[in-house]
Amino acid sequence: MENNMNHCCCSENQIENKSYKKGNCPACGKEGNLVKNYTVKHIVVEELTEEVGSSDYYLCMNEDCDVVYYSSDSSTIFNKQQVKVPIWFKKDANPKYACYCSQVTEEQVIKAVIEKGAKSMAEALEITGAMKNPQCREKNPLGKCCHQIIQNAIEKAFKIKSGS
Ligand SMILES: [Zn+2]
Repeated sequence: MENNMNHCCCSENQIENKSYKKGNCPACGKEGNLVKNYTVKHIVVEELTEEVGSSDYYLCMNEDCDVVYYSSDSSTIFNKQQVKVPIWFKKDANPKYACYCSQVTEEQVIKAVIEKGAKSMAEALEITGAMKNPQCREKNPLGKCCHQIIQNAIEKAFKIKSGS
């Protein structure tokens, strides 16, 4: 087996997801991102796994909307109370995970930059232990690598650091 030097935990999955199909949320009308059935089955609470069926879903990207997943014909909807983890970009998400696989929060990433002086992605990952055990397809609500969320948290931290 070839040694994968890529820092990203699921590069294959990311390439596959490059062109997102969009669908509009039945509750708020905003566009959502397509999420594979496999991921949705892992994120919804166990009692509802059977209701997921076999189709793919969309994830509502609106922070104010309570809807998390909806099927393309809107016949099946899962809201914030029906998923196992808080959706990081939704209002009041607590905790706000930056890496779902290693359960590292946005706050921990920000602290790594501000209090522990991480200057790069690699240093922040080292300090927080994020992306050590990649299971993004099962654990991340988008089924995508957590890399981008961590990157956003680091950028946020740099802004806080330079602004104060
Ligand atoms: Zn919505």
